[in-house]
Amino acid sequence: MKTNKINWSNLFSKRDQLQFVPPNCVDGRAWSNKYDLAPQFLGGSFHFVVVASILWQKALDWFMIESVFKQLNSFNYKIGLHRGSHKNAELKVSDCGFVDNIAVILKVLKDNSDYILKSLPNRKIKSVLKSFGAGFSDYEIDQIREKNKKALAFVLNKGVLSGDKIIAKTQDVFGNQAVIYELEGEHREQAVLLNLSELKTFDTLKANQLGCQAFNLDLKMFYKILKNFKLTNEQLLRSVVLSLVLYQATEKVLVEDKGKKALPMFVFKG
Ligand SMILES: [Zn+2]
Repeated sequence: MKTNKINWSNLFSKRDQLQFVPPNCVDGRAWSNKYDLAPQFLGGSFHFVVVASILWQKALDWFMIESVFKQLNSFNYKIGLHRGSHKNAELKVSDCGFVDNIAVILKVLKDNSDYILKSLPNRKIKSVLKSFGAGFSDYEIDQIREKNKKALAFVLNKGVLSGDKIIAKTQDVFGNQAVIYELEGEHREQAVLLNLSELKTFDTLKANQLGCQAFNLDLKMFYKILKNFKLTNEQLLRSVVLSLVLYQATEKVLVEDKGKKALPMFVFKG
């Protein structure tokens, strides 16, 4: 199927209580666990850890991971992470591209400002922020980019935990409060989807059956859950920008840096 022929909007589906389903990753591959639809964030619940560590300029270590996951549990959200068909216990690789490569992804974000600026210019970020009710100026967005960069330098300097250790330890410590999805098959993503509806998510299983795989980030749902964390409005909106640039850097590391063509972004507004 040609990418430009696919109507991505038709592949978004509604599910009751979607926010309480353990989140899966933005990864486009299908899974076989009991939840057919799940919210999709960067590395599942790990997305919250990465954003928190940058916002609060704290090391991305197990202490940080455990504290964010405990908070999510206390708000009645289960933890969601995943492994994939290319996992390798010996090499401590989970096959979650985001969790395994987080140090590389953060480094791209810190060092490749030109690439990020070109892929996500201020006008694109402004148009996304608008659907969160925020009218930001170019100056304000530039300030956020600058702040993020400084925080990233700090976090990277402290050393970053990555790989299957995070998933194995989460299983040990959180037991049935954490769900580990198993993703099947190969990466065949044809687009990068950004979902700005909090009622629907991308129907990954259906999309795979139809042969049109895509990455998907449920940014509105992420924001809805993040609001539980007693953040200021400025921190919440900075988290939206941070999620966007993290998503772009992830695409670069998992697609473009592997010699594949950059994927087009499609924004779904519900
Ligand atoms: Zn993943």
